[in-house]
Amino acid sequence: MATTRTAPAPAPSPLPVAEREASPCLDISVVIPLRNEEGSLRELHRQLSEVLGASGLTFELLFIDDGSDDGSDTILRDLHRTDDRVTVVTLRRNFGKAQALATGFDLARGRIILTIDADLQDDPHEIPEFLKTLDTGYDLVVGWKRRRRDRVTRVLASRVFNLVNRVCFGLPLHDMNCGFKAIRREVLGELGLYGELHRYIPIYAHARGFRVTEIPVLHHPRKHGRSKYGLERYLRGFFDFLTSLLLTRFAKRPLHFFGGVGFTVGTIGLAICIVLTLQWLRGNTALSERPLLILGVMLIILGVQTISIGLVGEMLIHREETRSTQGQHPIRALLRRAAVS
Ligand code: UDP
Ligand code: MG
Repeated sequence: MATTRTAPAPAPSPLPVAEREASPCLDISVVIPLRNEEGSLRELHRQLSEVLGASGLTFELLFIDDGSDDGSDTILRDLHRTDDRVTVVTLRRNFGKAQALATGFDLARGRIILTIDADLQDDPHEIPEFLKTLDTGYDLVVGWKRRRRDRVTRVLASRVFNLVNRVCFGLPLHDMNCGFKAIRREVLGELGLYGELHRYIPIYAHARGFRVTEIPVLHHPRKHGRSKYGLERYLRGFFDFLTSLLLTRFAKRPLHFFGGVGFTVGTIGLAICIVLTLQWLRGNTALSERPLLILGVMLIILGVQTISIGLVGEMLIHREETRSTQGQHPIRALLRRAAVS
């Protein structure tokens, strides 16, 4: 079985200042996360060069080698030697696709960032359609693998995942986990991507008020190598789902979430205790004979504790917000006269 990761990825170390581009100088950056994809790299490079070359736009291809131990490294060095549009980034070890993407995003110099898997399951010939759709006024275009060429279990799990997300986040996408996306640079500036939250880029973007849409794309079966993910991705996906729910809905107001839960639980506990106390006052039963009392008391304590977590969260956010001098505001356009008379 293919091992995918060894330990949770640490916080990414900041790139040297010289490596970060403050302003984009190319039209397109293609970010390609890869792990052990030696069989596909040359063909992928050929197809991307062909399609993007024909578009007349300036572009770069960023291959992010996420700890490969096959021949990928040799091939990438060769591509870099023969094509100056190719950048190769080799991570110290396997950190997972999210880290590979985050590194690529930081190094990208394009106005538009395209992400595509390295295994040729996504078809580079779809790229013009992505660009056309962005031009109609969107900030993020997500691929929709309408006919998915993966195992049945994967396809079903993905359907459920997408359905739950549609209901919980209100974003009508069929395939938000698709690795094939076109993203305007501004969007990425606002999303802190860590862990495996790359699955939720569309949700975070949508929550920040960016315009998100999808286009159907071709999906090919894997020709070389094997999928890097097994069943464990579903459990991790579930935790990421909870994180995303919290971060998109309640990140700026934790008390609304924890307060709501705590208040409900505490009120139930209080009601139980009041009923038992009234019965005791009427002289019906001694409290020591009412096991329900334990539940009531526990619920009250749990409620108070949950509300307290929300208060601590509010204090943390307050500190964070007052410390940051240039908070990010979800502004699409700003109209202001230069001088005030
Ligand atoms: N990948 C990566 N790091 C990892 C696992 C995967 O960079 O730890 C890359 C992989 O090489 C591929 C893309 O992420 O380019 C999608 O992975 P895969 O094809 O295994 O996923 P699936 O298509 O099965 O969802
Ligand atoms: Mg794949």
